[in-house]
Amino acid sequence: MQPTASHFVNGAYLDDTAGTALPVIYPATGEVIAQLHHATPAVLEAALAAADAARAGWAATPAADRGRILRRAADIMRERNRDLSVIETMDTGKPLSETLVADASSGADALEYFGGLIGALTGDHIPLGADWAYTMREPLGLCVGIGAWNYPTQIVCWKAAPALACGNTMVFKPSETTPLAALQIAAIFTEAGLPPGVFNVIQGAGDVGGALVTDPRVAKVSLTGSAPTGRKVYAAAAASMKQVTMELGGKSPLVIFDDADLEDAVSAAINANFYASGQVCSNGTRVFVQGGIKAAFLDRLAQRVGNATIGDPLDEATNFGPMASERQLEIVQGFIAKGLAEGARLICGGGRVDRAGFYLQPTIFADVTDDMTLAREEIFGPVLSVLDFDTEAEVLARANATDYGLAAGVMTRDLARAHRMVAGFQAGTCWINSYNLTPAGMPFGGAKSSGFGRENARASLEAYSQMKSVYVGMGRVEAAY
Ligand code: NAD
Repeated sequence: MQPTASHFVNGAYLDDTAGTALPVIYPATGEVIAQLHHATPAVLEAALAAADAARAGWAATPAADRGRILRRAADIMRERNRDLSVIETMDTGKPLSETLVADASSGADALEYFGGLIGALTGDHIPLGADWAYTMREPLGLCVGIGAWNYPTQIVCWKAAPALACGNTMVFKPSETTPLAALQIAAIFTEAGLPPGVFNVIQGAGDVGGALVTDPRVAKVSLTGSAPTGRKVYAAAAASMKQVTMELGGKSPLVIFDDADLEDAVSAAINANFYASGQVCSNGTRVFVQGGIKAAFLDRLAQRVGNATIGDPLDEATNFGPMASERQLEIVQGFIAKGLAEGARLICGGGRVDRAGFYLQPTIFADVTDDMTLAREEIFGPVLSVLDFDTEAEVLARANATDYGLAAGVMTRDLARAHRMVAGFQAGTCWINSYNLTPAGMPFGGAKSSGFGRENARASLEAYSQMKSVYVGMGRVEAAY
């Protein structure tokens, strides 16, 4: 797993062993699998200077040529899906059965989507009588991407694909917990023909991220991370009027009405809580269940979660792996202890799994009330809370009673009700009779404290470009004096 070097700058691997040591730990065993270094000021400067120098050339490259390079990178990612999936699994601990279908493939989808779409990024013609105006979209310039540790491959591609398609350059800083995947993607971009300096990866923690955000050469920052980090990064970016996209945390509701199909409702609740051992920002961790279906739902949910195959993430039979880090394991254990202390009823799980690594059992609590910590704070682990409800109006008000607004879901056979619920949800991304599916063509992002701006779809082309308006005078110029 040891990469050629810690960083990828100006089209080549780069290291500076003077940087603080950055060990990479395999969550399934706790073993160190690679040794990297945090970026030194020299590495940081090299990356910013390379991305700045590459700006004009890349912006002037025809959109069709930029798109072709991204689509070639997508093809390479698909050809190497298994190798990239193994790296993602070693980086995060997520089971290979998941990474084979959810990470490099989702990254390739984004590269393919934006590689194909970019030629359609055009302006408007505005007739004004004899005169006229037109608009065009221009790249912003040097963009910074900062990632979280739960989907390192996907996060790089979801940021790089629209940014590079629009003609921007990027310096990307992965989470210090999962530094491996982004290096592979940078090397693949180079292999696909991306000019040196257009996409750079440097390692480090919040201090390196902070230095990127405040650099005057940077035009835009896209962060995937927690709400507290989002507030800091947003404030720092505002000081120099940089544009931002904020993909932050959540405490999303999944509402299950009596008339929902029981098996579908259970599947949705599993998908909304236990992918990546629950380390998913959009998870529907507050599962509101109506009285008529509650008993059957809890029985079937516990039964099906009991069928999870917990084990070696590299064994494709495994479908539930460890947490990404020991620290995250401890944080989630703390939430479970609070849930018990505050009177929630443990249905299953709650403890560690008897093996090496950072494993925590899939955990279900029932009789959770709105005031409990389990229902209020983002846990970011395999902990599903079931809350009771009676009426549509009541559950909508309670679903929205949170500062977060990333996602929401509803399970019902009554489609008019489903659309009423979705219209009322204060959330950026909603699912009807489904959960946690995020195709490249659908905008993804949050409302309220979950951030703003959208990733994927046409919406993110707007987030990585700026509009220029041009008034064209066709006659003589008149003036008052
Ligand atoms: P985090 O906020 O601790 O760190 C995110 C990134 O920000 C890391 O790369 C970190 O090094 C960097 N960072 C920290 N302080 C910084 C600073 N002051 N300036 C610049 N960069 C700084 O988040 P995490 O623990 O890595 O990830 C988990 C969080 O991410 C959860 O809240 C989760 O919901 C959220 N998340 C959101 C999405 C989304 O798309 N909305 C996706 C995945 C994860």
